[in-house]
Amino acid sequence: MIRFCQGFQNLQLTSEILANKEGGGNYRTIDNYTQFWLYSNYMQKIKNYINGQLIEPIDKLYIDNYNPATGKVYSLIPDSDEKDVAMATEAALAAFPQWSNTSKEVRSRILLKIAELIEQNLERLAIAESIDNGKPVALAKMIDIPRAASNFHFYATAILHYASESHAMEDTAINYTLRSPVGVAGCISPWNLPLYLFTWKIAPAIAAGNCVVAKPSEITPMTAYLLSELCMQAGLPKGVLNIVHGYGHKVGAAITAHPNIPLISFTGGTKTGAEIARIAAPMFKKISLELGGKNPNIVFSDCDFENAIKTTLHSSFANQGQICLCGSRIFIEKSIYEKFKIRFIEKVKTLKVGNPADNSSNLGAVVSKEHMDKILSYINLAKEEGGEILIGGNQVNLEGEFALGYYIEPTIIEGLAYNCRTNQEEIFGPVVTLTPFETEEEVLKYANSTQYGLSAIVWTENLTRAHRIAGLLHAGIVWINCWLVRDLRTPFGGMKNSGVGREGGFEAFNFFTEPKNVCIKLK
Ligand code: NAD
Repeated sequence: MIRFCQGFQNLQLTSEILANKEGGGNYRTIDNYTQFWLYSNYMQKIKNYINGQLIEPIDKLYIDNYNPATGKVYSLIPDSDEKDVAMATEAALAAFPQWSNTSKEVRSRILLKIAELIEQNLERLAIAESIDNGKPVALAKMIDIPRAASNFHFYATAILHYASESHAMEDTAINYTLRSPVGVAGCISPWNLPLYLFTWKIAPAIAAGNCVVAKPSEITPMTAYLLSELCMQAGLPKGVLNIVHGYGHKVGAAITAHPNIPLISFTGGTKTGAEIARIAAPMFKKISLELGGKNPNIVFSDCDFENAIKTTLHSSFANQGQICLCGSRIFIEKSIYEKFKIRFIEKVKTLKVGNPADNSSNLGAVVSKEHMDKILSYINLAKEEGGEILIGGNQVNLEGEFALGYYIEPTIIEGLAYNCRTNQEEIFGPVVTLTPFETEEEVLKYANSTQYGLSAIVWTENLTRAHRIAGLLHAGIVWINCWLVRDLRTPFGGMKNSGVGREGGFEAFNFFTEPKNVCIKLK
């Protein structure tokens, strides 16, 4: 056991906590860093990162930031507006000439340094992510934070190998394509994988020589704030990355509408994506939209059964079902429907919902009270639509410090029509439906019936069928006999209302650069 005050420096907390001791003086016995964060009375004030400095929002207004595990406010977020965005954009514009002319090697080295610092701060960032989002610390440690580091690693090295095209016209002329950074990129990200998705945009944008005005979700701003400290430490020149915190309708809308931000990379809900497109299209901005999903998970009778069950447990309930790629509609071939159902329920019964800092918790809290209410309302809707809850269906009320947290049981529902609202609308929580099917045609009709087309999962040992189905599914990503296996070189994104454009690999550089064809007459 250590004393709270003694462990303070060792725990590498941000300087901001030290400077900001309202509610402090409550020195209590704690057994580790996690407990400190969970029980601390220190109210951390997050700041904007503009022109290389951490500063307060111009109007000095703040929004409460909740810890979903406890339902209590634990930090304050700048309630910035268009004035802060204007200041950030000015800083980015001023930094652009020098950054875009900095050699790729130097840019690469700075990005690698950021990656290294993320890795060195794995523990601290994972705990911060968990407290902000409600996800298990173990998950953040295994997935979110390592991936944030990989994003910087990947794009730091990818930029060194990014080449443009050349088209020779026999003896007439030769074309080559120049690709230049666009200028100031606006990057707006959601709350479900906060640092993971934030860095997935920022890393390729700055690697390609752009400067950035970025906005993390106001629901999960903490790791973006901690990233700004790491960028300063890594020697990222001032103004290259600017992070403005606040609400979407204020900061996000101001980024989208700013005349000097010609490019918007957005990940979030389909409705917000439509609003961004409405503002950006008449301004002829480049936009990349990564939006919602309602992904099918198709289980054929010839699958590797235990593997399908095991992975379906993850693809249904990882991160409390709040991953855009989760397979929330499970279609099972009729001949194995009952067997699958029984085994799946058996497995779900073993999942523990609890304190996200506890390594034995499989599911933590969902991200907010509002989101919990939305998920519960969908469970009610499912009942109204004739669904039978096979397991779960309720809020989980934990005790003590966690009594006001936002917890939901992993929930399985059956007996619903493929085209009812529960099976068509994105719930984005620990809720899946089971539906039997008899033929490939039937399951393809079900799978492709929604407005979305983000990802799909297929379980079969029949290779020919796997190829056939993959080709016919309306999805930007199809996983055969696996889920969430990610190679960062591959195109990532959705079709239909799941998005516009692709991220990942050189696709991201194509988005974050402007191509110019130069044609030279040979004779
Ligand atoms: P959201 O659309 O509510 O918010 C996303 C971001 O947009 C936030 O930073 C928010 O503040 C900002 N925003 C809100 N209104 C805005 C406006 N008018 N103008 C500009 N910005 C605005 O989404 P969310 O609830 O944070 O995230 C969940 C959604 O994100 C789900 O639909 C999920 O499927 C989707 N998602 C998609 C992907 C993908 O890769 N396709 C990945 C993760 C999440």
